[in-house]
Amino acid sequence: MSKSVLIIGAGLGGLATALRLAKRGFDVQIIEKNPQAGGRLNQIKKDGFTFDTGPSFFSMSYEFEEFARDCGIELPFDYVELDPLYTVNFNKNEKTYHLYKDMQKLAAQFEQDEPDFEKKMEKYLSKCSRLFHDTIDIVIKRNFDSMLDYLLSLAQVNPLHIPVLFRKFNKQVNRYFKSKDAQKIVSLVAFFLGRTPFDTPAVYTLLSYTEFKNDGYYNVKGGMYKIVEGLVAELDKKGIHITYNTEIKEYEQAGKKLISLKDQNNNSWTADVIIANADAAVFRGSVLKRKAFSTEKLDRKVWTMGYLTIYLGIKTKLPQVHHHNYYLGENFMEYAKDVHKNPDSLEKPYYYVNVLSKHNDDCAPAGCESLFFVCPVPDLRYKPNWDDKDKIVNSIIEDFSERINTDISQEIVSKTVYTPEDWQNKFNLHRGSGLGLAHNLMQIGAFRPMNFDEKFKNLFYVGASTHPGAGLPMAIISSKLVSERVEKFAHQSIHSKP
Ligand SMILES: Cc1cc2nc3c(=O)[nH]c(=O)nc-3n(C[C@H](O)[C@H](O)[C@H](O)COP(=O)(O)OP(=O)(O)OC[C@H]3O[C@@H](n4cnc5c(N)ncnc54)[C@H](O)[C@@H]3O)c2cc1C
Repeated sequence: MSKSVLIIGAGLGGLATALRLAKRGFDVQIIEKNPQAGGRLNQIKKDGFTFDTGPSFFSMSYEFEEFARDCGIELPFDYVELDPLYTVNFNKNEKTYHLYKDMQKLAAQFEQDEPDFEKKMEKYLSKCSRLFHDTIDIVIKRNFDSMLDYLLSLAQVNPLHIPVLFRKFNKQVNRYFKSKDAQKIVSLVAFFLGRTPFDTPAVYTLLSYTEFKNDGYYNVKGGMYKIVEGLVAELDKKGIHITYNTEIKEYEQAGKKLISLKDQNNNSWTADVIIANADAAVFRGSVLKRKAFSTEKLDRKVWTMGYLTIYLGIKTKLPQVHHHNYYLGENFMEYAKDVHKNPDSLEKPYYYVNVLSKHNDDCAPAGCESLFFVCPVPDLRYKPNWDDKDKIVNSIIEDFSERINTDISQEIVSKTVYTPEDWQNKFNLHRGSGLGLAHNLMQIGAFRPMNFDEKFKNLFYVGASTHPGAGLPMAIISSKLVSERVEKFAHQSIHSKP
């Protein structure tokens, strides 16, 4: 008889794990707090517009391909490579930088400010490539059974990289580039990890390699939510049921076994194996009531930034705006250094704009655009009150209108705003932190909440706050790692039966 598996959460991590385990013969079901699947990878359909709520592109497409092969399915969505990867615009500067993967096209834009840009970039990327290849299999794409196991793995990493361990992202970039624009642009990718170049470890410059050389960035045809729709359709085919509007609140144990979970209506849920796709730190605190993960203890951890996200449907076209765009203030450094904690920094915000309708006609009515703004903001520890959200949103719309020479404030026909409070309440994200636990050296690998439980042998975790970390490809890798653990556990339990 196949073992039963209950997955708590229908985010990408939960959906991918369900398909991998179904292929291995497990009898899987999923429960989800919200009325639709996807978690942060979600969708708003409103006033004739479609908006992706969170992710707007992904890297490491080969991880998705490997996932499909592992599940014995065709990848149920189509993706398109981005070129340019994105654009960058500085305030009061007419020039817009286009981040091409083609080094000559990229370098041509830095001719004036950064002589020999191409040579410097190649040298920088070559170091990033070595960091990537020397860590991906040893540190990122494997399970650790203990701290010792992790430390022994780290010991296998080329010692040439040790100095990088003690540097920040911006310091590493500054060793290669002298102009302020080049330094800022090359280090922007640190924001994708949910922090800033000033506090992200330099080992993550390997992300520069993933964007420019390894595989680039991809969009999904029809919008990112097609990933979720495709996976849910595959689960349907296999008879895997998702129960929505069901939030786990409590648990019951028998010795070292988690025997059942209770939802908000006091209904019991049980299975041989339980996998939490809910945030691995928050779940341990709020459901398992572990002291080490109490709200006070979680507050002392380092979290990724909160996000203020704005979804606008406008009744005009914006041919001058690309698909993915970054808008930076003049005060990039002060802003980035302060943004975690200082609500006043929002007066001159840094933000990202995605135009989903650019390549997806279905996502907006004819003659209209579907816009998605992401502005990194302090989490709820540092800015608990969002009564001023309209003021901040209007300042972003005004700033964007000035930069693109079109006043969009008069064109808005649909508007939705999520503050960190909304992100917290919708998806149980601690203090509205957008990407979960940050990736500082003391919160990665075996220092991150593990993907197996400290106490219950039949409880496992998948997703952004466990190993290896945040982002869609990492959720896919996490689903592989947890599936390996569950398979091993099932095998051992069968063989240990009298
Ligand atoms: C604004 C924003 C932009 C982003 N952009 C990108 C991007 O461009 N590219 C990229 O790769 N990544 C991006 N990310 C990160 C990416 O969205 C996440 O890393 C990824 O989606 C996390 O997936 P997950 O499965 O770990 O968690 P989640 O998506 O959070 O899924 C967890 C699920 O568990 C449910 N849940 C929680 N608690 C309970 C409970 N007690 N009971 C029942 N259900 C529960 C939640 O409702 C949720 O559906 C972005 C994130 C945000 C917020």
